[in-house]
Parts: sequence; structure tokens; C-alpha cells
Amino acid sequence: MERRNFLALSGLTILSKYVQAKPKKSSTGLVLDQRFLKHHISPQHPEKPLRYQAITEKLNNEGILDKAVFIKPKEDIEQWLNLIHSQSHIDSINRNDAQAHTHALVATGAVLAAVDAVCSNNVRNAFSASRPPGHHAKNTGQEEGFCYYNHIAIAARYAQKQYGVKKVLIVDWDYHHGNGTEWAFYSDPSVLYFSTHDVFAYPGTGFPSRIGEGAGKGFNINVHLECGSTDKDIIDAFQHKLLAAANKFSPDIILISAGFDSRQDDLLGCLNITDQGFIKLTEMVKAIADKHCDGKIISMLEGGYNLQGNADAVAAHITALMDDG
Ligand SMILES: [Zn+2]
Repeated sequence: MERRNFLALSGLTILSKYVQAKPKKSSTGLVLDQRFLKHHISPQHPEKPLRYQAITEKLNNEGILDKAVFIKPKEDIEQWLNLIHSQSHIDSINRNDAQAHTHALVATGAVLAAVDAVCSNNVRNAFSASRPPGHHAKNTGQEEGFCYYNHIAIAARYAQKQYGVKKVLIVDWDYHHGNGTEWAFYSDPSVLYFSTHDVFAYPGTGFPSRIGEGAGKGFNINVHLECGSTDKDIIDAFQHKLLAAANKFSPDIILISAGFDSRQDDLLGCLNITDQGFIKLTEMVKAIADKHCDGKIISMLEGGYNLQGNADAVAAHITALMDDG
């Protein structure tokens, strides 16, 4: 503030505006909303409202809420669904389960608000603790793997349309392959999709031989991690399969499908990634972002079904996003 006043008093208005527009190094946006508690599939279903409750309690206990810049989901965003989804898919979801449509729409609005905040330089990076997740959603007219609308894919297209972003890197470390995201950009060289997952888990896709097609050939990178894979295995995958490709691609923005069912002790996953592992992955993605796109990262929750483990991993991930180092 003192510096800003000094600049204004000095008559350096252009420089002053620049300082004001430039995000603080440490500013991390956090999208939270009570409506993330509303989506119920069935009483015993692992994708449950308690996931969000456990996250907010953990973030509060760790003092992370005090440091974050709060972002509200963007409203009236139905038009943007069409960037990825057909009207018949949207109509079908709405007809079959109007509540799910409404709640998934809030989650899409959450990540779009995070894109707005990062692309407007209000924050350096952002995390959306939204649910339901999205990376399995395609245009089948029905829910796919707890997903209705592919928030991360919509966010990529939204950043391109609304902010003129050209190249988007999507990093997906969920235990499951993001088949919906791969489908959305399989022939598109403007989106580099990198995913680590277990190909033998749902939905049974994501083999490394699938590298994209046409102009998109080489812009789809699948890495299989077998059951029991550790921090070292996933960090090796990032080092050897992501870094060179990302540096060559030189993204204008990075989106993360942050699924923590790849964490140790998950109910649906069988990998052994620790919270330290997720911190390292976050640091690696941040290093790519710092090098190519002014640190611009939008991360959103995908899977993660051990309530406490998921909350701990989210807290570790956000802490790493906030870190100035
Ligand atoms: Zn998953």
C-alpha cells in the first residue's frame, strides 16, 4: 500500500496501475460454496457431501482459509456448457436428474470463476473445492463416473474464448483416466492433455498408445501407474513424460484435474501417493507455470474418497500453491 501511494504521489500513474494489477506473489484464490454440499447420489455413495465438509474443516484448522482470496462461483453459465457439451446431453442430464444438473452447473461456475480471477490477474492461481467432479463427462446424455459436465474441459475452452488464451496444458493426477477430457481435445493441438492413472481401473481407457490424432497427434499423453505406485513413480512420470512436452508446448495457462483418489488409503484407488508427493507435483506444475505463463494455474477437485485423506491432500496442495518459494 505504501509503495502504491508513493507511486501515485510521484505521478507514475502507469507504473502504479501495473503494480495494482499485478497479483501478489502469494495470492491464491479459493472457490468455496455451501451449494457444494447439496449434491447427493445415494446414501452410501463415496462421492458424498462430507468430502466438502472435511475439506473446509481441514482448511480452517490449518489456517489456510485466513490466507486465501475467496472466489464465488460464476452464475448464469449455462451457455458455456455448449463449448464442450451438446444440447441433447445437457437436456438429457436435466431431464433425468434436474438436481444433479443444477449442482453440476455450480461446479462448472466455480472453475469458470477461478479462470476469471486468474486471467484478470486478481490472483496468481486458484483452487476450486467443488463437487461433483467432471473429467469423465462426455456427450452420452448420462452421468459418467460421478460426472455430468466436464468442468475442466469447459474451463479450457472458456479461457480460450473469453480471454484469448491460445495454449492450455491440462494436468490430471486423478487415479482414474480423464476419458472425457481426452475425448474433448483428442484432435486439438491447442490443448496438451497429460494424465497419470491406472488403466485397469474405471473407465478402462488411457493407454499410453493413445497419443492424439490428426493435428492433435502428440498432444495427448497417458501414463499408466500400476497399483502400489509411489511418490517416486508419479514424480518420475512428471519428470520424464510431462516436463519436456510442457516446455516444448509452452502453455499460456495450466489447469489441474486434482483428483486425490490417487492418494494412499483411498477407498477406490490403489496408488500410494503421499501428501508430500502431491506437494512435489504441485511444485513441478508451478515451475512450468512460472516459466511459461506468469504462474497461472487453475486447479479443481476431481476424485478423492477417503474423507480425511482427501482433505489432507487438498490442504497440502493448496499450501504448495500458496508458497512463494
Ligand atoms: Zn477418480
